[in-house]
Amino acid sequence: MFCWLSRLCRGLSTPTRRTTQLIWSSASRSLVLSSQRRIPELSSFVARTNTCGELRSSHLGQEVTLCGWIQFRRQNIFLVLRDFHGLVQVVIPQDESAASVKKILCEAPMESVVQVSGTVISRPPGQKNPKMPTGEIEIKVKTAKLLNSCKKLPFEIKDFMKKTEALRLQYRYLDLRSVQMQYNLRLRSQMVMKMREYLCNLHGFVDVETPTLFKRTPGGAKEFVIPSREPGKFYSLPQSPQQFKQLLMVGGLDRYFQVARCYRDEGSRPDRQPEFTQIDIEMSFVDQTGVQSLIEGLLQYSWPSDKDPVVVPFPSMPFAEALASYGTDKPDTRFGMKIVDISDMFRNTEIGFLQDALSKPQGTVKAICIRKGAKYFKRKDIESIRKFAADHFNEEVLPIFLKTNETWNSPVAKFIMEEQGLGLVKLLETQEEDVVLLTAGEHKKACSLMGKLRLECADLLEARGVVLRDPALFSFLWVVDFPLFLPKEENPQELESAHHPFTAPHPNDIHLLYTEPHKVRSQHYDLVLNGNEIGGGSIRIHNSEIQHYILATVLKEDVKLLSHLLQALDYGAPPHGGIALGLDRLMCLVTGAPSIRDVIAFPKSFRGHDLMSNAPDFIPPEELKPYHIQVSWPTDAETGKSSSNHPCLSES
Ligand code: ASP
Repeated sequence: MFCWLSRLCRGLSTPTRRTTQLIWSSASRSLVLSSQRRIPELSSFVARTNTCGELRSSHLGQEVTLCGWIQFRRQNIFLVLRDFHGLVQVVIPQDESAASVKKILCEAPMESVVQVSGTVISRPPGQKNPKMPTGEIEIKVKTAKLLNSCKKLPFEIKDFMKKTEALRLQYRYLDLRSVQMQYNLRLRSQMVMKMREYLCNLHGFVDVETPTLFKRTPGGAKEFVIPSREPGKFYSLPQSPQQFKQLLMVGGLDRYFQVARCYRDEGSRPDRQPEFTQIDIEMSFVDQTGVQSLIEGLLQYSWPSDKDPVVVPFPSMPFAEALASYGTDKPDTRFGMKIVDISDMFRNTEIGFLQDALSKPQGTVKAICIRKGAKYFKRKDIESIRKFAADHFNEEVLPIFLKTNETWNSPVAKFIMEEQGLGLVKLLETQEEDVVLLTAGEHKKACSLMGKLRLECADLLEARGVVLRDPALFSFLWVVDFPLFLPKEENPQELESAHHPFTAPHPNDIHLLYTEPHKVRSQHYDLVLNGNEIGGGSIRIHNSEIQHYILATVLKEDVKLLSHLLQALDYGAPPHGGIALGLDRLMCLVTGAPSIRDVIAFPKSFRGHDLMSNAPDFIPPEELKPYHIQVSWPTDAETGKSSSNHPCLSES
């Protein structure tokens, strides 16, 4: 049960000898850091001699004091004690002279926390438990102390998977006692420690904290606002330390990093949190390759030792190829099923919706081939795929089943000409029992739909037992060569930054900024892991005039909001660039957790609430007064409720 712990601890206790490193020195003084790693001492400074999980036959005869929670009790004779390190069996004394010890250990409810002292003894022959790391020994107790009793719990600690997530979040402090949460948080701490070691001790980065109370940043995500006591004035919580890290470069702190808390008011999304953590990095005098190599080294160094080692360098894919072949800028490259453009093959088609699409200037026909789809997919699967396309993309999808190498089965089989069929077989390398899905429309939209269907089909195949994505495989990918700007979704005539407004244009495209900005390539790179974006960064603009032009003329932002940054760029700002890794998502993928909430100690719910304390909560009007704020309550029509029932109004 606690095998993860031994894995975790093996990682922890592997002493690696490394020479002491001089990381900063001057003529007058030097700062020397010893990076020699030691076995961590888990019981220093506290009221125990050992952890429950560490005792083995080698400890036989030792007098120990343990502290832990009562996991279970058997016939008032044995008690299993648990701490973060594992489980150990305790023998409850039965003799009269130890009646008080027996009373404590037999009467304490489950999950009470106790301290026991006694001797490590060998379990009698035939009673050893090979499934338990401490299964060769037990503790013969001499004294026991009830440190705190436990009331009836809202759920059993070991039934992690059976509880609803809402209940787990409401009693998070109990949920944290579970094996899974302990593993996730401890592994997270270990990885962050190794990242710090790599950045600070091996590469001379400086950990700098930047403010949380800040000012609105134009463009990008929606920010949370914090009222101030000055009428009408608000702070904003930074969506990332972007401006500060660039200003640190101007300040000569030329290798910055921070485990940074970021805030984005983006509404409910299953894989997002309103507050989240980034490994935020910035360097002066660096180019794209430099940042990429640093990150590859960082991940390789901090990667858990029980997983397959990270292989570097990571492959790269241009943004245009990611979109054309996978329908997304974060392709899952663990499996094929790539999107293929078959427009040319269908130019003279008689199939109505293909004809319609191809008659338009941007019209294309796209296909994906699902290997052995005909074997695994049921009619209702294909129906749900077609419905998905119609509901989400307003597009038609045509399924074609390949029965034998030449016979097609499709609602429009008779309209597929022989050379088209043969062409499909050749281009998509189809084989018997494959299914081809076909759609038509404007390139980006058709690719995007096919990209979604590719993932849907992968899920469906896996649900039917096909192994498509190896759970032990970590497939890293750099997506590069992004355009600097993309058309705004709500108004495609206007442009927005593909990354953020501080990203530098490709040096060969600077002239295009003033004539055809939509054609400018950027120096932006994203890091993708198994189809998830886990990082993104860019080389920055360090020229104030170009930055001003992009903000004011291309993006039509209010430059006054960034006058401090523009000014700083004018005072000898070095060329610089950086990246941020999303730590929560990275940890979620590393641990294989179902949600990013499972790698955060106290996360918000899907709707952004803290279910334990009920934040956000109402504040009485008198407490809002110093901030010159009044709540404008939504009308009954807006809420569907009676506003006079509003809890705050009835409370105040
Ligand atoms: N600040 C950026 C972000 O949060 C990352 C970067 O460009 O370094 O996406």
